[in-house]
Amino acid sequence: MRLTVIGTGYLGAVHAACMADIGHDVLGVDVDAEKINALADCRPPFYEPGLDDILTRALASGRLRFTTNLREAAAHGEVHFICVGTPQKAGSHAADLSYVDAVVDGLAPHLPASCLVVGKSTVPVGTTAQLATRIARLVPNAVRAEMAWNPEFLREGFAVEDTLHPDRLVVGTTSRTADDTLRRVYAPMLAAGVPYISTDPNTAELVKVAANAFLATKISFINAMAEVCDAAGADVATLADALGHDDRIGRRFLNAGIGFGGGCLPKDIRAFTARAQELDAGAAVAFLHQVDEINQRQRTRTVALARRLAGGDLTGRPVTVLGATFKPNSDDVRDSPALAVASALRHEGADVRVHDPEGTANAQLAHPELSYHADPLSACQGAELVLHLTEWSQYGGLDPVKLARVVRAPVLIDGRNTLAHAQWRAAGWTVKALGRPAPSDHPDADRPHEPLRTTIVAPATAPAPADRPVARA
Ligand code: NAD
Repeated sequence: MRLTVIGTGYLGAVHAACMADIGHDVLGVDVDAEKINALADCRPPFYEPGLDDILTRALASGRLRFTTNLREAAAHGEVHFICVGTPQKAGSHAADLSYVDAVVDGLAPHLPASCLVVGKSTVPVGTTAQLATRIARLVPNAVRAEMAWNPEFLREGFAVEDTLHPDRLVVGTTSRTADDTLRRVYAPMLAAGVPYISTDPNTAELVKVAANAFLATKISFINAMAEVCDAAGADVATLADALGHDDRIGRRFLNAGIGFGGGCLPKDIRAFTARAQELDAGAAVAFLHQVDEINQRQRTRTVALARRLAGGDLTGRPVTVLGATFKPNSDDVRDSPALAVASALRHEGADVRVHDPEGTANAQLAHPELSYHADPLSACQGAELVLHLTEWSQYGGLDPVKLARVVRAPVLIDGRNTLAHAQWRAAGWTVKALGRPAPSDHPDADRPHEPLRTTIVAPATAPAPADRPVARA
């Protein structure tokens, strides 16, 4: 089938390459000429595992091309996928739909024949209906452009895998023809048994925001429990493991830490509350305000913990932040909790050195005031405090003994609760984490610690059980 993919960012570039890979004739379109040139040149403009391979394959097959020309796209596609951004509106919690509107306005007048326009971006419920009216006004006479919504659930870091092997496909259409067209687009996935949920556009739009609201709530729930654990002297990692054994709850997304971020979850839950208010259903999702607040609070709690560990004043203190991206296996720093914490530490006067395996270029653009290092060891040189803020697997492989030799004080905040704390402590590190106990208060904690080499003061914490491995989601 002849498809266009309009907007070739994290979602669209992967979608375009994967659609070509399963046999479609795809034209990718973006207003960003640099991005389009890079993609056409087989240089992925962002880091996504597996994207370079699939892009190489798709370009070599001749089934994938790129352009900045929307007229060319209008002429090419029997199905047009809209994959542009829907960020938070300035000064409001609502989604900014201006990019989606611009695509429809730019495409519709040039459509030569009837076609299907399918949104994949995350949008407020009711958007398909609004766009259907908009596009009907703009298409040439005798052309019928039908609107449908097919929200995307891919996870950055697993985007190629998630696009080729999605856990479900959700399509919201208003006609059997549109549904049939989308079944043809996704025929290989359907043949492989991927669940295909065919519904109306309102439900399809809501599935996406409801899924993100649920995930955000689960993360904030365990982070709220971490706050209570800190107050009560309990261990949130053990709590999460014990909760997770209940298969009605499940262990995934129950890792307490500095919270969620990125280009989706935070703005999606805000847009959901704004849209629900417009629909006079604000009370139903008012809890999402608290989910957001709990999430933001983990960042300030982490900074407060760092300040306490520094004896109350971070001015001039050498501090290392491991991780800048909002999650591992991505270079995306949009609303990254790690960078927010790094920036707040800098704001308090700390001398902040940052390391990230893939996100340094983006982080530098967003926060040029921080200093960036090419490897974790050099970033940690002379540090009085190390914060582990993005759970890249390479940080799990760091040797705490080696690292203890280069820092000025072996003090670690594990903001993701994923490092092997016992191993770090055995290497002489003081290890702190939100919702985790201080082992020095535990009867089993009399194992030798290397003496601290600075005057860094540990915060008072309550008795707690010993270290144990954290089950990963
Ligand atoms: P992005 O910022 O990486 O990409 C958006 C792209 O659209 C950019 O390349 C931009 O130049 C382009 N664009 C803007 N206006 C355009 C126009 N008029 N014509 C053509 N191109 C235009 O954003 P993203 O992360 O890919 O997200 C896109 C949408 O997908 C959002 O609604 C997001 O919530 C949703 N989504 C993202 C993910 C994810 O993991 N990133 C997952 C699921 C859903």
